[in-house]
Amino acid sequence: MSLTRDRFREQALKAAADPRLQAALEGATGRFRHARLDALAELPDADALRDHFKAIREATLARLDEHLTVFEQRATEAGAHVHWARDATEAAYTVLRIAHRHGASLAVKSKSMTAEEIHLNDVLEAAGVAPVETDLGEWIIQLANEPPSHIIGPAIHKTRQQVAELFSREAGRPLPPDDIPLLTSTARRLLREKFLAAGVGISGVNVAVAETGSVVLVTNEGNGRLVTSAPPVHVAIMGIEKIVPTWDDAAVWLALLARSATGQPMSVYTSVITGPARPDDPDGPREVHIVILDNGRSRALGTPFEELLQCIRCGACLNVCPVYREAGGHAYGNPYSGPIGAVVAPLLFGLCEFPALPEASSLCGACLDACPARIDIPRLLLEWRATAVEERLTPWYERLALRLAARVLAHRRLAEAISRAARLLQRPFAHNGSFHLPTSLDVARPRRLPALAERSFRELWRDELAG
Ligand code: SF4
Repeated sequence: MSLTRDRFREQALKAAADPRLQAALEGATGRFRHARLDALAELPDADALRDHFKAIREATLARLDEHLTVFEQRATEAGAHVHWARDATEAAYTVLRIAHRHGASLAVKSKSMTAEEIHLNDVLEAAGVAPVETDLGEWIIQLANEPPSHIIGPAIHKTRQQVAELFSREAGRPLPPDDIPLLTSTARRLLREKFLAAGVGISGVNVAVAETGSVVLVTNEGNGRLVTSAPPVHVAIMGIEKIVPTWDDAAVWLALLARSATGQPMSVYTSVITGPARPDDPDGPREVHIVILDNGRSRALGTPFEELLQCIRCGACLNVCPVYREAGGHAYGNPYSGPIGAVVAPLLFGLCEFPALPEASSLCGACLDACPARIDIPRLLLEWRATAVEERLTPWYERLALRLAARVLAHRRLAEAISRAARLLQRPFAHNGSFHLPTSLDVARPRRLPALAERSFRELWRDELAG
């Protein structure tokens, strides 16, 4: 996985020039934005709750090792098997080994960004275990053989017509795009067979609770419950940061997650899994495995990047980001898109693989305003940009330009002389007080930049003092 600057620019420009995609992005992100604001307005003091949540996340990360140790102990006492994975390969092969041990050739999955991060489907498929996504959006993009384009709505870029075509192919008969109930009932019927035939169910984890060794899953379609209870084996994959010490903390997490993600007071289904089915339970898995994934996360602990581990993957920052809303999720070249993707991808996959992402921001601060954990994404973007300069990952011409600018700005007379010369030279190109910026230099669509003023501030100030 990697993304050059040119590739990002190319993908972003392509997305910005696609009217269908732009309409889909604006429609979906707009709905999420409004729903989130309405849902937060219903709380007596949403800002105080966010401050409280920030404090919970900071305190938890400060003693992350202790909480994870308690979680492992309690989960094991409840009958679950806990596995630790240093990286994506270890995590994916741990899941594969469990599937093989149980002779599973079919695995049903509920939505999991962590599973996307470790390319689990590719590993399973290559080893003869067919993974089937059961979240409707994830199933759509699996049928289309595409990556997700949004943390919460993986298929928000797809139109009804495209979905109907995919479902028709799967059902073996034409399905009309306007008959939404028929489309969803077809998906339900086809997926129900998979739940019953699967040897293993694979899920992510929204939050894990150390005091009882439980993992919590939230879904709106109920597929999470079937994935974690119909097959005989359930495997949950979680990043090391998805933990809270107590149920009181989890309650705050869940109250903010649903409101920030989809504008709901609660997700429709909240499932708590504490070990496998007990002997007197009517159903449930015989075995529960929890794979705890590091994959670079622990590198952030104790550094200026630690704050990004407070993310609860609600997607609110994507919906308000002017760059994401133009470029869409696929431009980011990895499962994590938008502002959080721009700071998480360099941590998980390496800054040299994703040098363009920290620059994919206007630093407007809308992500910080929207984030339930008040993660200062603009600061993190600047930290990554500074790291890119230190590691000489920026292009040579940019480094040269900045070095020259530093020299010029350090000498007032030289800076004034260059400013005067630039104002003269710009005359043939500037129209109505602005320049047209060439498309190839722009992040998204072409735009105009203001021309230098006829008289500089210093000149005006001098004249004012003289006058
Ligand atoms: S950074 Fe904040 S707003 Fe963005 S996904 Fe994470 S928790 Fe949500």
